[in-house]
Amino acid sequence: MPDPVIVVGAGPVGLCAALALRAHDVPVVLLEADPVDRHRTGSRALYVHGKSLALLESISQGAGSELAARGVLWNVRRTLYRGKQVYEKEFPPHDPASGLPPFTSLRQSETEHVLLDACERAGVDVRWNHPVTEVVTHPGGVTVATADGVTWSGSHVVGADGARSTVRRCTGTSLNGTAAEGFHVVVDVADSTPDLARVMHYEHPAAEGRGVLIVPYANGFQVDVQSRAGDSADVIASRQEVRRWLPALIGPTPTERITAISVYRFLQLIADDFTDPHHRILLVGEAAHLFPPFGARGMNSGFVDAQAAADAITTGRHSPAANAEAVAAFATTRHAAAEANSAAAGAALRHLRPPTAAARLRRGAAARLASVVPRFGEWLEHAPYGTRLSEVRH
Ligand SMILES: Cc1cc2nc3c(=O)[nH]c(=O)nc-3n(C[C@H](O)[C@H](O)[C@H](O)COP(=O)(O)OP(=O)(O)OC[C@H]3O[C@@H](n4cnc5c(N)ncnc54)[C@H](O)[C@@H]3O)c2cc1C
Repeated sequence: MPDPVIVVGAGPVGLCAALALRAHDVPVVLLEADPVDRHRTGSRALYVHGKSLALLESISQGAGSELAARGVLWNVRRTLYRGKQVYEKEFPPHDPASGLPPFTSLRQSETEHVLLDACERAGVDVRWNHPVTEVVTHPGGVTVATADGVTWSGSHVVGADGARSTVRRCTGTSLNGTAAEGFHVVVDVADSTPDLARVMHYEHPAAEGRGVLIVPYANGFQVDVQSRAGDSADVIASRQEVRRWLPALIGPTPTERITAISVYRFLQLIADDFTDPHHRILLVGEAAHLFPPFGARGMNSGFVDAQAAADAITTGRHSPAANAEAVAAFATTRHAAAEANSAAAGAALRHLRPPTAAARLRRGAAARLASVVPRFGEWLEHAPYGTRLSEVRH
C-alpha cells in the first residue's frame, strides 16, 4: 500500500483534491478542523462554472450532474443604472438531455455536501475535529501533527485549509497583495421559488446610490450591497438596519426569511510559492490565493488547482526527481493562473468601485448611451466579472 496523501481542509477545494487523488487510486486521509455537524454561515460561492461541473464529473462520476440537478440556472441577466435598465439578456431553459449546463447556482454548503458524499463513496478517510498544527517535510515525504498530539505520515500534503492556512505557514511562504477599500454586505434570503433573474444595479436609488447585486440560487437569493465611503459595517449590516433597508430593494421580507447577514472585505493576495523546498506540499484554493468574488474565480479556480495537484502528485511516483519536477511545475503553472485570475478580479472590483472621478463618469456615460449603442450596456453587464466568464483562465 503506497503512503497516503494527506489533504488538510474539507472545504470545496480539499474535497475536490481528495476525489481527484482517489480517481488516481491514491489512498487519502482528509484532516478537517471543524466537527462533522458544523454550520457554514452564508451562501458564499454560488456560481459553479460549467467547466467545474465537467471537471468534477471526470473525477467522480455523477458529482457534476448532481450539482447541476440541485442548482438553478438564471433565465435572465439584467443590468440597471440609477433605476433605468441598460441591458437584458434572456436564456432559453437548459435541456438536461444535452449534457451538463453552462453553470449552476447553489449554496457552497450544498456543493460541499455533494462532494463529501462522493468522498465517502470513494473511500477517502475523513477525520473531522482534527485541526492540523504542524507540517514538516523531508525529501521522502511529510509528517503532519494534529491538535490531539497524533502524527500522520504521508507522501505529500495538499494544503486546502483556506485563507488562514496553517499548511501555508509551515511552508514559510507569505501572502502578498492588496486589500480593497470598503466592504460588501451580503444578505441571504430564503425563497423556495426565487425569481431566476440575476440583477446588477449600479447606483441604486433605493440604496442611496450604492451598488446592488441580486443573485438567485436554489431555494434563495443573495443581495450584495456595496458600501459607500463613510459607511460603517456595524451600522448598515446590523439586523435592525438590514430589516429597514432590505424591503426597498426586494419588497416586504419577513424576518425569518433572512437566513444570514455577512460582511466581506475583499482581498487580492497570492502566496509567493505554492510548494515547499522539498516539493512535498501543494497549496490549493484559498490557502494559495484570495480573490474578490466577482467573476466567481475563488472556488472554481480552486477546483482546477486541486486536480492539477493530484496530477502532479501522481506523476513519476517512483522517481523522486521526476515527481519533484512535476510538483514544481504545478506550483509555477497555478501561480501564473492565480495572477491572471487576481488581475481579472481586481479589474472587476475597480469597475464596481471606480478609483477616479473619470472612471465613474465613464460608467455613467456608458449607461446613458446604452439605449443607442448596445455594446455599452453589454460592457456594464460584463465588466463586474473582470473578463467574460467564457474567457476566465482557470
Ligand atoms: C460572498 C462570496 C461569494 C463567493 N462567490 C463565489 C462564486 O460564486 N464562485 C466561486 O468560485 N467562488 C466564490 N467565492 C469564493 C469561495 O467561497 C472560496 O474561494 C472557497 O470557499 C475556497 O474554498 P477552500 O476549500 O479553498 O477554502 P475554505 O472554504 O475556507 O475551506 C477551508 C477548510 O479548511 C479547514 N481548516 C482550516 N484550518 C485548518 C487546520 N489547521 N486543520 C484542518 N482543517 C483546517 C476549514 O475548517 C475549512 O473547512 C465567494 C466568496 C464569498 C465570500
